[in-house]
Amino acid sequence: MLFDYHIHTPLCRHAVGTPAEYVRQAREAGLGEMGFSDHNPMPTAFDDWRMGPEDLPRYLALVEEAKSSAGEFPIRLGLECDYLPGYEDHVRFLAKQADWDYLIGAVHYVEPHWDIDNPAKLAKWEERPIEEVWRLYFAAYARMAASGLFDFLAHPDLVKKFGKKPPGDLADYYRDAVDAIADAGLAIEVSTAGLRKEAREIYPAKRFLEMAHRRHIPVLLSSDAHRPEEVAYRFDLAFDLVREVGYRRLLGFERRKPIPVAIG
Ligand code: ZN
Ligand code: FE
Ligand code: FE
Ligand code: ZN
Repeated sequence: MLFDYHIHTPLCRHAVGTPAEYVRQAREAGLGEMGFSDHNPMPTAFDDWRMGPEDLPRYLALVEEAKSSAGEFPIRLGLECDYLPGYEDHVRFLAKQADWDYLIGAVHYVEPHWDIDNPAKLAKWEERPIEEVWRLYFAAYARMAASGLFDFLAHPDLVKKFGKKPPGDLADYYRDAVDAIADAGLAIEVSTAGLRKEAREIYPAKRFLEMAHRRHIPVLLSSDAHRPEEVAYRFDLAFDLVREVGYRRLLGFERRKPIPVAIG
């Protein structure tokens, strides 16, 4: 029984399709549960790819509506929250605004004005060595893990999205983040979104996942769907990957409590 907990809504202004269409796709894909997790609002206007500060009630209403029309099919309420130093209290504030099933932590920003996955900011990559960007990214990821704000963490090596990777073994970049995740007792996503990007690879890379498995870090499969047909996208590949690395259980969440689910 597979779940997909990382699914967006058009409120973030770069996803398409109604919540009902995402739900239909989840059922057709044979999922046992699905969850919405749109990009969190910031206290004021912040960037052009999230709901506005006043949109949270609409988001909650959209998910509530999807729930009531889905009958028995479980729909979870989540939020993908950007981790940015200085906004910890804002995340604590958001945590109190609803009965969340989970909060996903994500690093998109390695510094205040650079969201490294934003194609409009590709020119920024020319300004500094790839190695430095990778170090900044994973340092932020480790701090996010230690922040205690989240239930699980999104797309662990998103920094590879555009296929920009340092040469050789990447374990040194991963290590501190993996340690921080394990020490915090957090789970991570195995996200098929990377397969749809220039990286052409699941987030995280197999090497990262092997290190995570060694440290007993639990995982969830996710699609990061921004259109209905992306729900459960290539979960066959993600399932094979986690099995191959040695995982025998995945996680579900309800009211911010993890629920292990055995996989074959
Ligand atoms: Zn998005
Ligand atoms: Fe994200
Ligand atoms: Fe997302
Ligand atoms: Zn995402």
